[in-house]
Amino acid sequence: MRDTLRQLVALQQVDDELAGVEAEVSGLPGLRQAADADRAKAEETLAAARTRVEEVELARREQESELASTEERRKDREGKTAVVKTNEEYTALLAEIDGLKQSEGDLETAILEAMERVDEAREALSAAEDKAREVGARVDVLRKRLDAREQELTGEQARLTVARDEAAAKLPPDLLRTYQKVVERRRPGVAVVSTELCSGCRVGIPPQAFVNLISGKTIEVCGSCRRILIHKAMLSGEAVPVSAE
Ligand SMILES: [Zn+2]
Repeated sequence: MRDTLRQLVALQQVDDELAGVEAEVSGLPGLRQAADADRAKAEETLAAARTRVEEVELARREQESELASTEERRKDREGKTAVVKTNEEYTALLAEIDGLKQSEGDLETAILEAMERVDEAREALSAAEDKAREVGARVDVLRKRLDAREQELTGEQARLTVARDEAAAKLPPDLLRTYQKVVERRRPGVAVVSTELCSGCRVGIPPQAFVNLISGKTIEVCGSCRRILIHKAMLSGEAVPVSAE
């Protein structure tokens, strides 16, 4: 019985290790997706920053060409002041020239502001480029690490599956079935106890079941969580606390 129980505990250890490996494997796609999402977000920010630079540069060029044409028109009107025939025409020309000068002043202010916006947009673009590069490099490293880890885990999984099958083959079929049933619902499937208390769910073990446990003659399961109960003395070389072995 001691050997059987030790084999059961050995199976549980391999099984739990395998479950851990499988849980890690199943988490890998999520980690890859999160890394790719980080990269996509940084690239999106970069694309938006590029668009912003193009927009503000275009706005500045439009204002500059509007200023140039306003200046041209004003110079044309100024030239005409020498050739107008009437006072009314002259007054009207001067008013138009004043208006054009006002527009030129407004445009010059607007161009200065536009240049500031261009500078800001270029700075933001440069920061977005740095960030995208940094995130891209980080994601590349992370993805390589995840690929390497996946390979490791796949090897580990294969090794543990073999070990698990070997451990399972050593157990009596009834006990194996009982164990399988428990681990479908909860892990670990075995509760190693030292007192009259299930170490899995903290519910008390009835006295008769506890006596059976330490006698090692029958397999006992917890009445509450259904875990297979093993007294820890059954696993070590130490003497069982009552002489019933
Ligand atoms: Zn229990």
